[in-house]
Amino acid sequence: LKIYNTLTRRKEKFVPIRKGKVGIYVCGPTVYDYPHIGHARTYIAFDALVRYFRHRGYKVKYVMNITNVDDKIIKRANELGEDPIELAEKFENIFFEDMEALGIPRADFHPRVTDHIDKIIEIIKAIIENRYAYVANGDVYFSIRKVKYYGKLSRQSLTEMVAGARVEPSEKKRDPMDFALWKEAKEGEPSWDSPWGKGRPGWHIECSAMSSEYLGEQFDIHGGAMDLIFPHHENEILQSEAAFGKKPFVRYWVHTGFLNVEGEKMSKSLGNFITIRELLERYDPSAFRFFVLLSHYRSPIDFSYDALEKAKLGLERLYNALDYARLVEVTGIKTNSVREAKKKFSDALDNDFNTPRAIAVLFSLAKEINKLDKVGDDAVGFLEEALDVLGLKERTGLSEEARASILELIEELGGMAASTDDESLVKTIINLRNEYRRRGDYASSDRIRRKLGEVGVILEDTTQGTTWKFRL
Ligand code: AMP
Ligand code: ZN
Repeated sequence: LKIYNTLTRRKEKFVPIRKGKVGIYVCGPTVYDYPHIGHARTYIAFDALVRYFRHRGYKVKYVMNITNVDDKIIKRANELGEDPIELAEKFENIFFEDMEALGIPRADFHPRVTDHIDKIIEIIKAIIENRYAYVANGDVYFSIRKVKYYGKLSRQSLTEMVAGARVEPSEKKRDPMDFALWKEAKEGEPSWDSPWGKGRPGWHIECSAMSSEYLGEQFDIHGGAMDLIFPHHENEILQSEAAFGKKPFVRYWVHTGFLNVEGEKMSKSLGNFITIRELLERYDPSAFRFFVLLSHYRSPIDFSYDALEKAKLGLERLYNALDYARLVEVTGIKTNSVREAKKKFSDALDNDFNTPRAIAVLFSLAKEINKLDKVGDDAVGFLEEALDVLGLKERTGLSEEARASILELIEELGGMAASTDDESLVKTIINLRNEYRRRGDYASSDRIRRKLGEVGVILEDTTQGTTWKFRL
């Protein structure tokens, strides 16, 4: 298994610190607003990566923090006249709801900043003791001049960094590039007692604290989107190495590309901000996940509804091939194509999680399946497994309303369903439709087809009978 390491700018063989185990920390959301499809991109990519490690037999410990105290949260809360911690709590819940709706399971741990203030203080104390930080009037700053080499992750010189960083000015700093580990409390802001007076943590320190709490002082993989390379991750390296005196802090730095909307960065002012909720009103989560996985995790993604529609049709093609393979399944026939596809699929994912290449393998297999009238058992098994590895759920079942309206139609037509599960409802109504067709009452049989179409069930009349499937 090879993985691209931002630190070395190279694909490297993955060798975990502890055999068979992977510790991974991904920077989580700052919870002050509805999560958008850019967040979805990054968290789908890391979910896919974690899934693949598990599929390969690794025992994974996946940690994603929740930033629930921060300048942006305080600013938003002040605008709304709300309590910042309560505002954060509300949006944390919304974040988890949206992730669930997207089909992204929770990480193993989602530590919050406000639950780890003690740990944060402990680490800041260690950094001060090791003389990498200084106290200035209630603030604590990391001293950039104390490190030999700043900029190893982003590969910038100090002057480039000064130009690129949004340096927060403060008379308390000795050097403009010094960054705050602890900030003195301001009137009306959330604050905690510390050896330096009442205050709150700076932005970067939380991740040094929480990653070491859950994964140890050195661990395997640290991730986030590209925007976090500098200054956030660069500063995390300084903090953790200064506090613990162990190098390297992280073995593999993994960064996802940004998602833009029709060529523009998503922003409120451009009005092109798409929340996960808006997306899911129009599209199935699997369609979006497939759309994301059609790009390599490091590539930027240009989102448009047209592109998403195309991705959806692509995923339909794979599901259709699977349905067809199931329909014509003949046991015991092994095709070389399946064996070859299996190998190419895992080679692609082993090579820095190349999901677009892995999906291309599935497309060509689907094409072959559609040409055959006999498909081996193993084709069904492999496709099911491949979709599962990628986290693509099979078509979803009927909604409550859909079930109710089919039931209503069955009753109206004088039929009776054995039970109210999807399968028996659809089968009953298909039998009624076949009855009408036999009698030549095509108006009624078409009415049933249309009704099923409305609720997302697609019928196909084949020589072997009528088959059905759920539309995405
Ligand atoms: P934030 O809530 O802004 O702190 O972001 C949480 C995570 O989502 C970080 O890893 C960000 O780098 C990532 N992220 C934010 N916006 C985007 C985007 N447009 N595309 C991809 N990832 C993003
Ligand atoms: Zn972080």
